[in-house]
Amino acid sequence: MTKSCTCHQTPTPSYSQIGKPKESSVIGEILALAARPEVISFAGGLPSAEGFPVKAIKDAADWVLETCPQVALQYSAVGGMPALLEAIAKIETDHGVPTTPDEVMIVSGSQQALDMIARVFTDEGDKVLVETPTYMGALYAFELCKPKFVSLPTDDEGLNPDLIDDRVAGAKFAYVMPTYQNPTGRTISEERRRKLAEKARQYDFWLIEDNPYGELYYAERPPVSLRAFAPERTLRLGTMSKVLAPGFRLGYICGPKHVLNALKQMKTSMDLHTSTYTQLITARVLDQDLFSEHLPAVRRLYAEKAKVMLDSLEEFMPKHPEVSWTKPTGGMFIWLNLPKNVDSADLMKKVLASDVPVGFVPGVAFYTDNPEVNHCRLSFVTVPSEKIVAGIKSVAEALKTFL
Ligand code: PMP
Repeated sequence: MTKSCTCHQTPTPSYSQIGKPKESSVIGEILALAARPEVISFAGGLPSAEGFPVKAIKDAADWVLETCPQVALQYSAVGGMPALLEAIAKIETDHGVPTTPDEVMIVSGSQQALDMIARVFTDEGDKVLVETPTYMGALYAFELCKPKFVSLPTDDEGLNPDLIDDRVAGAKFAYVMPTYQNPTGRTISEERRRKLAEKARQYDFWLIEDNPYGELYYAERPPVSLRAFAPERTLRLGTMSKVLAPGFRLGYICGPKHVLNALKQMKTSMDLHTSTYTQLITARVLDQDLFSEHLPAVRRLYAEKAKVMLDSLEEFMPKHPEVSWTKPTGGMFIWLNLPKNVDSADLMKKVLASDVPVGFVPGVAFYTDNPEVNHCRLSFVTVPSEKIVAGIKSVAEALKTFL
């Protein structure tokens, strides 16, 4: 006889292994402290809301609802709306990789692409190659498939393909951010891109090139995309999150058609398709030359803030052989290196308790294994300039007490 439950209290479900809520981590707890309103936060990964092109989006939304409401509000094809696929194929082609609309698919944010790619490529225990440190959201997405992570070798100039050896044999794919990497802000040279593509061919793994920040250069355009060196085995991810609005949840994947077909089948099970309405608004904004009008202002804003933070680090950080930081030429992040014996989580607790409380993300959050504790990810784009100066001064004062 089966037992029936007579009480009406909400029971705790017997969660699946991957669905079980995670216990709160030390990092999670200190990040929650950093979210208090009085804290100067360099912790966020959000783009600056000052950069949202509200008027252009409103005009485009009005145009879509006036000209094609029946299409815009209807279900649509899983791969994306033709007008948007064409606009994105054109952008990719302008970036040096001739791309046709059928080599593009739309996703609900590049985060969905990461989830889909992991599911389509990996079974439990398969090798997945990641940079160290890397974007933690990708690690969370990949972990659902229980792969075996293998770290790719990196140095001060980012991923170093010369040091890739037989440890990568059998890997399904390498997840990399060649341009303005999250969390370090580093960009790998064209030469390293070429060599990485050669290694991918030699060891027969795919390249997942995540490129959310490539348009956010401060002065010069970044090197040509990694996909240009191995288009037959690269999936390049893009997103509207950092150039238009993250609330749109709109990203894309460029790559060989047969793989996009497998990904489309997976996407159908996940959400049928990305919002038709948002896709049409975006296509209209792109068609109206958003990139030439709106992006230069965002680039200027980010370049200005990066400069304020870099100048402040130079002015206030203690002169110490083991204190250094990256000098990004685009994107949203600076990676601060501390002496090996300084744990950045301890430093953050100290700064949060100071008169000028400051938050950042302790570097430990960005590793799969052998985490290095002596780094901080600093994001500057949403913080007013005078607070960037005060915040860096406060971090520097606290750091002095550890030296
Ligand atoms: N990749 C990287 C490297 C990111 O930093 C982010 C967002 N912070 C994403 C992917 C996800 O972006 P979205 O889903 O908004 O496109």
